[in-house]
Amino acid sequence: AKKFLLAKHFQGEPKENDFQMVEETLPSIKDGEYLVEAVFLSVDPYMRAYAHNIPEGSLMVGGQIGKILESKNSKFPVGKYVFGDFGWCSYTINDGNAPDRKGPRISPPFVLPDFGNVPLSVGLGALGMPGLTAYFGFLDICKPKPGETVCVSGAAGAVGSLVGQIAKIKECKVIGIAGSDEKGSYLTDVLGFDKFVNYKKDNIDKKLTEIAKDGIDCYFDNVAGEISTTVMKHMNIKGRVSVCGSISSYNFDYVHDPPKVTVPFPYILNKNLHLQGFQSSLYIHRFNECFTQMLQWINQKKIRHPETITTGFENMPKAFIEMLQGKNLGKAIVKV
Ligand code: NDP
Repeated sequence: AKKFLLAKHFQGEPKENDFQMVEETLPSIKDGEYLVEAVFLSVDPYMRAYAHNIPEGSLMVGGQIGKILESKNSKFPVGKYVFGDFGWCSYTINDGNAPDRKGPRISPPFVLPDFGNVPLSVGLGALGMPGLTAYFGFLDICKPKPGETVCVSGAAGAVGSLVGQIAKIKECKVIGIAGSDEKGSYLTDVLGFDKFVNYKKDNIDKKLTEIAKDGIDCYFDNVAGEISTTVMKHMNIKGRVSVCGSISSYNFDYVHDPPKVTVPFPYILNKNLHLQGFQSSLYIHRFNECFTQMLQWINQKKIRHPETITTGFENMPKAFIEMLQGKNLGKAIVKV
């Protein structure tokens, strides 16, 4: 079995030699245990943010979908597929409980429900944690109404691409902010977003003045920083902001050199904005509700689930680094 350890805490952007791949021979399974072979592994921004919480030399945190190869646990039968926060490892022995590790979102593993004709990898995206995040983080916090204008940053990623599509289902006008024109064309031409801002090229303030003439009612924020301050300048009175992520600051050293932030507070104050942060784990007890609706929308072709798949377990660090650099469109996944 292969696994990746966090060899060194990241300084700035993660680098390939911050990781170390090691091999080990696993013991035989005991009563109550089962053996899983990783099929698809997830690489997510939170791994960058949380890596400083785990000691150097620890297994990298992360979720995966695996196939059960052997089992002495009747709840986890051989041949079924399971989602688990098993970390960056190619094989895992688990006893049905959440792995005993420090880290985010460590929840107990579960056998995946039937996806019908939808590919299994979507269990790491629209039918998994990013789907839960987009669905409740947007609907529950932004409470969109038909005809309202919704802006989403990180719009071409796993969560953002879903939020924009859900906003279209809810009959909103949708503006996406992302880092390249190729991503922008995909958002408008394929996913049905109304407008697009390339934050690396456009003057965001000027562009929003042109394309959000009626102001912005809902903002789903995946990035924070300057982009978000500028969006808030364009929000309407009593607008709602769902604070999902702050990827623009994940490479900062919060201890020694905290980021110098732009200040959105006058906009929050003067426009009576409602801001709410949330963790997807807050909604885990409503997973089935979200799963059923997302699966229906996927089958009705109302929701697409773009993926960027990197092949080879040994390419986990590369896939992770490239996702942080914005090379992914939709959910970034590693296929073993
Ligand atoms: P994505 O698939 O969106 O991948 C990350 C994307 O972030 C990149 O593709 C890149 O796209 C963009 N990005 C990278 N650096 C910057 C920057 N400095 N400024 C603006 N954009 C940047 O990841 P996810 O959809 O999985 O996650 C999106 C956000 O949601 C993250 O902040 C994540 O931490 C958060 N999140 C929060 C959860 C919660 O429970 N609250 C759960 C899941 C995710 P581009 O080319 O556009 O730059």
